[in-house]
Amino acid sequence: MILNQSSKLRDVCYEIRGPVPAEAARMEAEGHKVIKLNIGNPAPFGFEAPDEILVDMIRQLPTAQGYSDSKGIPSARRAVAQYYQVRGMPGMELEDVYLGNGVSELIQMVCQALVDNGDEVLVPMPDYPLWTASVSLAGGTAVHYRCDEENHWWPDVTDIADKVTERTKAIVVINPNNPTGAVYPESVLKEIIEVARKHGLLILSDEIYDKITYDGVTHTPIGSLAPDLLTITFNGLSKAYRVAGFRAGWMALYGPKDHAENFIEGLDVLSNMRLCPNVPAQHVVATALGGYQSITELLLPGGRLLEQRDAAYEGLSAIPGVSVQKAEGALYMFPRLDREMYRIEDDEQFAYDLLRAKKLLVTQGTGFNYPEPDHFRLVTLPSVEVLEDAIDRIADFLAGIRR
Ligand code: PLP
Repeated sequence: MILNQSSKLRDVCYEIRGPVPAEAARMEAEGHKVIKLNIGNPAPFGFEAPDEILVDMIRQLPTAQGYSDSKGIPSARRAVAQYYQVRGMPGMELEDVYLGNGVSELIQMVCQALVDNGDEVLVPMPDYPLWTASVSLAGGTAVHYRCDEENHWWPDVTDIADKVTERTKAIVVINPNNPTGAVYPESVLKEIIEVARKHGLLILSDEIYDKITYDGVTHTPIGSLAPDLLTITFNGLSKAYRVAGFRAGWMALYGPKDHAENFIEGLDVLSNMRLCPNVPAQHVVATALGGYQSITELLLPGGRLLEQRDAAYEGLSAIPGVSVQKAEGALYMFPRLDREMYRIEDDEQFAYDLLRAKKLLVTQGTGFNYPEPDHFRLVTLPSVEVLEDAIDRIADFLAGIRR
């Protein structure tokens, strides 16, 4: 019997680790050296975890052999609750927090608990594609709202409001944003809240880059501005603490819950079904969240992440026919290519051709559900030297496909 994938997967895709990276892996297996700028994974680029996290993890191993409570160990959940209590959500309690094997598991869990066949969830465009994929896998439709490149890549709130229907259940906000690097001001967040308030929508806010902002830009958790609405905030240790491999994330519910008891029971069932998240990693959540935050110095003048962001911005902006918004947060840039200047019909083909010709792996913009084939995403984690080399390769490649 031929085994086909289930029809549930029909609209599910995740190009960041898709066919183009598979081609890069084949090339590496043949002995080619490829610069891979497709995954926001800090450790391989020399961003080591803070020592106290590693030491704590090792110390805790003997006591972390068994399953934990499904939602996670109390000390970690308490630390997450307190993290939000001092960030404008004073009523956050331990019971409101679910730990997960990364934010990824929790995104899927929420979509499974929330979405019925035919339901709609408003998702940004471009998006971090796990959101679209998880809504589809749950049987729903991700309805994409525009983020406006000409306006700092901020969400076009009129477009959000126009796309609300009777089937809409939630609005997804990714702030700071992957792939655009945008950080949303309070005024924009308040406008989104207004739409959610008017239509009784749940707000799902992915804030995994909340500590990674540049140039003094501050991040505001949307939950802190909407105490009268139910919001779920997602975050974890993968980025700011550089331990993506530990798979440690959380989601925190805030606001009124009386109308959502049945949905929350669903979350509890799904949480029970996965038994519990990785226990050794749970033991370092409280260590990570308290005290000195070593990510900060990487973002200040002279800090590696800031210098890399600047080098990527300057290098990309200097290429004719390439325009890019300077990232105010996160670890990415999402440049636009002028298709009147360059022969690009299909951006996946562009990514393949760039890879084969220049041994450089980026992710095509349509992989982030961007509708036009004229963007790509570059990760700003490599050293300035590697980024400059990568950007030279892009410039050379583009020169070769100039009209
Ligand atoms: N959300 C966003 C916006 C991301 O960029 C990522 C990873 O790149 C994730 C969630 C997944 O993070 P985790 O490692 O916690 O699963």
